[in-house]
Order: sequence, then C-alpha cells, then structure tokens
Amino acid sequence: MTAPAPRPGILDIEPYRPGKSSVPGGPAHAIKLSANEGALGPSPAALAAYAGAAKTLHVYPEGGAVTLREAIGRVHGLDPDRIVCGAGSDELLYNIARGYAGPGDEIVYSRHGFNIYPIVSHAVGATPVVAPEEKLVFDVDAVLACVTERTRLVFIANPNNPTGSYIPADELARLRAGLRDDIVLVIDCAYAEFVMRNDYSTGVELVDRGANTVMTRTFSKIYGLAALRLGWAYAPSAIADVLNRLRGPFNISTAAQAAGRAAVEDQAHVNRARDHNAAWLPWFAERMQALGLHVYPSAANFILVRFPDTPGRTAADAFAFFAGNGVIPRETNGYHLPDCLRFTIGREDELTLAADIARRFMAQG
Ligand SMILES: *Cc1c(COP(=O)(O)O)cnc(C)c1O
Repeated sequence: MTAPAPRPGILDIEPYRPGKSSVPGGPAHAIKLSANEGALGPSPAALAAYAGAAKTLHVYPEGGAVTLREAIGRVHGLDPDRIVCGAGSDELLYNIARGYAGPGDEIVYSRHGFNIYPIVSHAVGATPVVAPEEKLVFDVDAVLACVTERTRLVFIANPNNPTGSYIPADELARLRAGLRDDIVLVIDCAYAEFVMRNDYSTGVELVDRGANTVMTRTFSKIYGLAALRLGWAYAPSAIADVLNRLRGPFNISTAAQAAGRAAVEDQAHVNRARDHNAAWLPWFAERMQALGLHVYPSAANFILVRFPDTPGRTAADAFAFFAGNGVIPRETNGYHLPDCLRFTIGREDELTLAADIARRFMAQG
C-alpha cells in the first residue's frame, strides 16, 4: 500500500512553537510574558466595535476589507489600494512566499530571525538560506553574500524578534540597493510602533520607490488584538495584486475588520502603550542587569536576557524557576539562543513580580 505523500518541503517544517501560557505542574493562572502581546490590551473602542459585529454574524464580511484599509491608509498616509489585509501578518508572509518562490528557489533570512520565515520557506518548497549574524544583529553584508541567482525573497524583521535589535534606515536602504531588482524584500515591522529611535524607518519609502519591497504590520502587538488575527501589508501595486489573488475571498472576519478599524483610529491608545513600554522596558532591563545578567538592547516590547552557563543558573533553570513561580518567559532554544530567555514588557504588577522572581533565582544558594 502506498500512502499519499505531502509535497517536498512540508515535512521539513519544524512546527511553530508559540510561547507557553502554562506549564505542567505550574500555577493554573500564570502570567504570560512569552508572546509579546500588548501590555495594555486593546483600545476600548476596538472592544466595542468587536461586540457590535455580533449583530451581523450571518452576513459575509466585506471581502476586500475596504473600510478597514481606508482607515489604515488615512492614519498612515498610505494608498489603501496598495494595502492588503491578512489573517495575522503570518498569512501575508506566507502568501508573499507562495507568490514569489517555489521549488528550486532560495529565500534568505538571518540566523536569529523570526521563526515563521523557515516555516513559510519550506511550505512553498523553496530552499531556506540562513545568513550568519554577529552580536545578534541583522548583518546586511552577510545577507547580501548569501544571494545567488536562485534568490527570490529576503525576509527581515525590523526590529527583530527575539533579539530586539534593529538596523537603521540607511542600512535598510543599503540592503535594498544591494539586492537585484527581481528579488522581493519583505520588511516585517511587527514592532514598529514601539520604536523610539531617530534613525529608524519602517521602509515605507523603499516600498514607494520601487516594485520589489513589501512592508508588513500587525494588530497583534501594540494594538493588543492578537486573538483577532489581523495584519496588513503595504506593497507595490503588482505585488498587492498577487496577494489579493492568493488570499481567501473573505480572509478577514467582520469582527476583525470592525475592531481593527476602531483600533487604528484610536492612536491615543497606541501612544499610551508606547509610553508604557518606554517607561517599563528600561526599568525591567535595569533590574535584570543589576543581577549580573546580560540584557540585549531592544527597540521593541520585549527584552532578551542571557543567563550564565553555571549549573543552577542557566536559562533552562531560570525558565523552570519562573514558571514554577507563576511567570512564563519565552524559551529561545528554537532561535539558536539556548542560553537566553525573552520577556515581554507586561504591566507594572507583572514586571514587578518577574523582577522579584529573577532576584530570588539569582540569590539561590
Ligand atoms: C508577532 C510577530 C508577527 C505577528 O504575527 P501575526 O500573525 O500578525 O500575529 C510578525 N512578525 C514578527 C517578527 C513577530 O514577532
């Protein structure tokens, strides 16, 4: 008997392992600092819009998410016709890969880049090519050195998850300039709203300048709407057209469209979330540094912390200790960072508890 065989690449996928929300034997209601969900949760206006969508559950959603795209376009000063919404930015990243790469093609990303990139590369049957990284920062020259005639796509998360590092606008422009025109550059800006650096750019100007750069955004992080699954891409017309052909005709639920629109129109809430992060990220980072732990600089809403290799003090030991005490950070073994843990910048009470657990962990005999 022969069984159906999946297409080449599918069984090479290392399934995505989300940050945990509980651990066996740990407290039932742990504090989850493992998935970078917005500390303040969604805008009240988004919650009201979500509830309002209950009245029309029997009707298909607006297929092209026009009202939502117009709202995003107004707020960001972008052409709504070149915005495509996705069920999470994950869907968009996958469809960009589906649209532009397949068997025999290569997709380049950086060693500690976001784990969705290997998944979508294998999913479309393309060959992932991993550029080396020094000091946990995307290395433009190393990525350019990986480009071959088979390269179709380059992914960069800026800032990157899980490192928190970013490359400045001039480096991003140098990356684009160093790539052939027929290579799609995807700039995944999941954490853009948190960044407070003068030399940062989302790369919108690179999207506008050519026909080969896409920027993706999400409502899962600063907007606090991860459960809704909503993201968007800003792309050159021809790429937007490809993404519109590939997406499901009703890929964004009515509730997500309504809540997303209300959320993007409540920029005061976004500003509060950014201010919260700007205040509490340094606070938490300093607490960890004061314990002798190495904290990597972060432009996003999380920090990556390196633990010693001393038995009893390792990242694995720390994870068990945190989880046992009701706080769950993100393990980063899957990112080739087995000596680190990533912590989301949560609410004040959550971070105060996490800092206290860290202190007790490092003080153990
Ligand atoms: C969280 C995250 C996303 C967002 O994914 P969604 O599917 O929109 O929830 C995308 N890219 C990176 C780097 C992320 O960390």
